Amino acid sequence: MTDFSDLLSKVPTGLWIDGGSRDGESGNRFDVVNPATGEVLTSVANASVADGDAALTSAAVAQSSWAATPPRERSMILRRAWELVVERTEDFALLMTIEMGKTLPESRGEVTYGAEFLRWFSEEAVRVGGRTATAPSGNGRILVTKEPVGPCLAITPWNFPLAMGTRKIGPALAAGCTMIVKPAEDTPLTMLLLAQVFADAGLPPGVLSVVPTLDAPNVIGALMKDRRLRKVSFTGSTQVGKKLIEQSADQVLRTSMELGGNAPFIVFDDADIDAAVDGALAAKMRNGGEACTAANRLLVHNPIRAEFTKALAARIGATKYGPGYDDGVALGPLINAKQRNSVAALVDEAVTAGAHVHTGGKSVEGAGFFFEPTVLDDVPAGQRILSEEIFGPVAVITGFDTEEEAIERANATDYGLAAYFFTKSLDRALRVSSALEAGMVGVNRGVISDPAAPFGGVKQSGLGSEGGSEGIEEYLNTKYIALTP
Ligand code: NAD
Repeated sequence: MTDFSDLLSKVPTGLWIDGGSRDGESGNRFDVVNPATGEVLTSVANASVADGDAALTSAAVAQSSWAATPPRERSMILRRAWELVVERTEDFALLMTIEMGKTLPESRGEVTYGAEFLRWFSEEAVRVGGRTATAPSGNGRILVTKEPVGPCLAITPWNFPLAMGTRKIGPALAAGCTMIVKPAEDTPLTMLLLAQVFADAGLPPGVLSVVPTLDAPNVIGALMKDRRLRKVSFTGSTQVGKKLIEQSADQVLRTSMELGGNAPFIVFDDADIDAAVDGALAAKMRNGGEACTAANRLLVHNPIRAEFTKALAARIGATKYGPGYDDGVALGPLINAKQRNSVAALVDEAVTAGAHVHTGGKSVEGAGFFFEPTVLDDVPAGQRILSEEIFGPVAVITGFDTEEEAIERANATDYGLAAYFFTKSLDRALRVSSALEAGMVGVNRGVISDPAAPFGGVKQSGLGSEGGSEGIEEYLNTKYIALTP
């Protein structure tokens, strides 16, 4: 077994509450597993309902002083946290690779991307404005101010262990909110290391807590019933998101929901095919296909379909897979056995129904949770793989004849997160961008995420935006003051 003990000795493995690491009230812990080998890396404290309550108490106590902290000071703490994360790029990157599985170059990319939310929102912290107007009647002034919403709860998924946290922590702290983070069970270590980094950057106790737990329904359920909590921000599956929206009704909580996707990736016959293959490779294989923005359905204009499919299958078929920390590896394992079984079931069903396998198609025998990089074509209509999130390294190609058909099929889903298309026609670029029902559209590119841009979905892909100047609004209430001078 490769020895990661040096790195792991730097990661706090208790609950991070009130500015320090502590055991849970029950003393229970749970294991964190390396998905490349199936071996246990370490264990972390398992928060109970009582621990969640302790985290909320510290967040509620810290709330008023954090809200009253000058924006410039909040900004400088975020800025220092950004500097420290960047300084510790190699620690964060290797930690993500061993707990989540993605390759080291991809983890380094996530450190840059994830840390940037801290720098971006350190800059936004000092730009929260309001407005003033004379009432149309002439009878007094209208003053509009922005205030922090109060203690927030963030629930994050395992696929981007750093960025899905910083995308919420950055704007919350910038706006003057305190925050409790419940990281995914599979990947709690990255958030715990981040909590330590924030303490090193001078963040006061109680402003940020991290509570890993195997009992999310009860711990989260109790927090959402507590009137001290004012907001929940969730990134994860649509199924869990719907439950949380229901639960948020109890205390009429503000909610931000970044949910599942089923992104279409359309290649028109007037596209630069080489660029489209590069784009498809990025949109499909980045993060091993375990991304909410992953190209789930490749729709290719029939005149160029054979050429595109051959080129893409050659590139995907040549992808070297293995532990993400090994040299030259371009694809790591899936997160766990359940996820691999789910990908295998989708592929098996499609193949049994007549789909053509160009490359891959099977789980890899042996240690770790690997699935072969795969390209399927001629998938019969009605297959689950065309309507459900695949979340694995499997490219699914179908053909189309007209632009209208491509748009209709792209939109024939309950999801609306990302969509991509390739064309050289400016007319078509504008027409198709506005016709696609998605919160984000990539034109002639396969990667769209940018901390300076609003990330979010429509339909069952979510509510609200993260990142950009829009991101901080999610953590601000609007107050109207009617003033007679
Ligand atoms: P998941 O919904 O199973 O879990 C997400 C988080 O919710 C985890 O921390 C989990 O512990 C917690 N959780 C699960 N059940 C809960 C409950 N009953 N109450 C409270 N919390 C609960 O999702 P996942 O498998 O970790 O992540 C994959 C999903 O996340 C995919 O659907 C993907 O599309 C989505 N995702 C969306 C975005 C986005 O920005 N839209 C980004 C990344 C991932």
